Amino acid sequence: MSTRCYIGLGSNQADPAAQLRQACAALGALPGSRLIGCSQLYASAPMGPQDQPDYVNAVACLETSIPPLTLLDELQRIEQQQGRARKAERWGPRTLDLDILLYGTQQIASERLQVPHYHMHARAFVLYPLAELEPELIMPDGTPLQQLLQKCPAQGLRALADASAQG
Ligand code: ATP
Ligand code: MG
Ligand code: MG
Repeated sequence: MSTRCYIGLGSNQADPAAQLRQACAALGALPGSRLIGCSQLYASAPMGPQDQPDYVNAVACLETSIPPLTLLDELQRIEQQQGRARKAERWGPRTLDLDILLYGTQQIASERLQVPHYHMHARAFVLYPLAELEPELIMPDGTPLQQLLQKCPAQGLRALADASAQG
């Protein structure tokens, strides 16, 4: 049985747009998975440390039969393949960040995995591309995505001209 998932993608090193396109292709190649769509690419200011380049972000929709924790393993493997070095500094620069935003309507609170992603409701670079893919989306707790968007300032987010993560 397949579940519809939304994955948040981010990069601010080593040609971020190319990193996101490569990551989308890797998501679509996961076993038992199909890439349903990917948002445009967006540029956003960094969270946390400000002495790093702006980010490029997107959201992908994946239908997959991979269970949530195994999917997290796969995402971390793709991050590593694309040169992500895990450092102690929180929100430091990275070649690729892949976060599970939503896994169907499941709510997961384990040590390694919180779904929906704990901070997605406050992140323009997540909510706007997500709404592009699924404007009528209802969150697992029943909140319409449009309601979250209304409460979330755009935070300087801007769509990159002529840039699709599906390349
Ligand atoms: P943030 O989570 O605030 O976006 P980050 O993406 O930079 O920060 P990471 O260093 O990529 O954080 O991940 C830290 C840990 O977060 C991972 O090792 C993973 O176990 C955990 N984690 C918890 N929930 C999720 C989720 N929904 N998607 C991805 N990782 C998650
Ligand atoms: Mg993240
Ligand atoms: Mg992450």
